[in-house]
Amino acid sequence: MLTISVIFIIKDGSPYISYLDQYFTKVEEQYKYKYNFEYFVYENDSNDDTASRLSAFFKNRKGKYWSESLKNNADFKGIQPQRCQYMSALRNTLKQHHGHIASDYTLLIDCDVLFPDNIIEQLIEIFSSYNFYVGPSEQNSITLELPTDSIDCECIPNNKQQPTWTDTFKTSVSANKLTVERIDSKTGWGQPLKFNIVPTNIVAVSPFDYCYKRLRENHNNHYYDSLAFISNDNIDYSNNGNSCMFKKCGRCRDYRKRTNIQFDDDNLLDDNKIIKVNSIFGGCFMLKTDVYNNVDWVDDSKDGVCEHHAFCKKIGQLGDIMFTPNLKVITTIPKLRFYPAIDKRLQYITMVKTKQININIAFPKMIHLIYLPWERENGKLKSDENDFNQDFYKRFQKENPKWLVVMWTQSSLKDFTKDFYPKYSEIWDKVKHPTQIVDFYRLLVTYHFGGIYWQYGSIKKVPLKLFVPPISKSARFFVELVLTKELNKKIKADGNLKQHIRNGKPEEPVRVANQCFCVYPRDDFLKYCIQKYWRNLHTYEVKNQYDILYIGATAMISEAYDEYPRKNEFVLDFNMKRYINVLMNGSWRLSKYE
Ligand SMILES: [Zn+2]
Repeated sequence: MLTISVIFIIKDGSPYISYLDQYFTKVEEQYKYKYNFEYFVYENDSNDDTASRLSAFFKNRKGKYWSESLKNNADFKGIQPQRCQYMSALRNTLKQHHGHIASDYTLLIDCDVLFPDNIIEQLIEIFSSYNFYVGPSEQNSITLELPTDSIDCECIPNNKQQPTWTDTFKTSVSANKLTVERIDSKTGWGQPLKFNIVPTNIVAVSPFDYCYKRLRENHNNHYYDSLAFISNDNIDYSNNGNSCMFKKCGRCRDYRKRTNIQFDDDNLLDDNKIIKVNSIFGGCFMLKTDVYNNVDWVDDSKDGVCEHHAFCKKIGQLGDIMFTPNLKVITTIPKLRFYPAIDKRLQYITMVKTKQININIAFPKMIHLIYLPWERENGKLKSDENDFNQDFYKRFQKENPKWLVVMWTQSSLKDFTKDFYPKYSEIWDKVKHPTQIVDFYRLLVTYHFGGIYWQYGSIKKVPLKLFVPPISKSARFFVELVLTKELNKKIKADGNLKQHIRNGKPEEPVRVANQCFCVYPRDDFLKYCIQKYWRNLHTYEVKNQYDILYIGATAMISEAYDEYPRKNEFVLDFNMKRYINVLMNGSWRLSKYE
């Protein structure tokens, strides 16, 4: 569990407290197995019932609020140092009140900002990996500058791969340089390539903040808080006339032209590109709590116009501050507190847009079998990779002459990895048990070639052509079992299946099978599973049998299915037994994992 501290100052914001109450009630429930929340709030001199609303807000929540009347109470408008000093003082007062915080992340928010339900999860993810746009290339190998120093890069592209594409890549990272090489061919590539980058030291993240007032005027690409923004090259409000710097914002481009502001268009920002910045506050700002504990809001410059500038300057000395324009929030103003309508608009903006899938290739007539013989006593791979009964493979190929049945063994899997996914060769040393290797490669070879993954020895009950996904669907997955209450009890009672690794999160109601699945090449859901497996493998340690299921087998796929936003792209078939009798011998279990 992670603990998130939500921190804000507020004045005359009674309706906003009601919004936050509803919002966090929803989010606290949705993430109850992932996040604990605590809140620290400072209210001063409100003319409405903000203070009593706050008291109600804190009824069943952790944290504390302070409500005060100030001698120097004021409402500064516009760009001026007095406002900056005043705001710094307010924010610092709250910081001094709550003192040292022991949470993992701190979310600073402003009044009248509306959030999508998953924004906290999405912001937190950036600290461990972000999506980087590489684009097409005429050369076979290119080196690009990343916005951050980084330690790793996924080798499977993050943009959608078409079933007909054969492109595979080798990626390597050194400091802030990413090298991408196409390895299935000596040429370049045309696809708008994107990769997942693992950064070294991101300490703060802020999303794109729409201005509701401008959205109502149909300025659909305008960014709200241009005053707090300072680019990595120190371009700030004094250079851009306090306009937003997004390429797509026609409003601000016209404004700069009309007011004759000399501005170099090379500085304009893409709304799909994550960048490192010197200062930002787009409605909210997520930072690591240990960093927050080590900075304050004091602005020594005396002529500062925005309290975030000095604050971010201190944070920037401790790590990278990132601006992720693909994540969205909306800020409104007190006059336009139409929260339900704004919330609807936000849902519309952040909706996952799914295109109808048009697959124009035939389903690959390929069956993938994997067998890695291992010693029962110690769980080590046998030295002779062919030391297993191959009758099933021979019979299966003979019975299905129109299909290519591939019998994957240790050497062919290693060759395949070297040729197409060199980065993944470390899997062989990284796992505790050989079945974990099988679990990984069933995803990867089927992702690469398409076709059907078939658990060795399982019995086919209908012709193979009936396994093919229906028209306009990219894959057919099967439900292994539906978790009934009784079954859940049985699992809980089994000492070998202790689910400490889940941290109290209940199993998903539907367990998705990994013993058999049918996909076109480069299936997106399978890619999601591979990336999840790889992340899990580097995050968790195997301590019991269940952990193996959770890191990379059925429990992992089930959780992936639960999380995956585009479920309608493939079929989840509840009638597995009609298609296949899976060979289950349970013999993969070891009594100890050390
Ligand atoms: Zn703009």
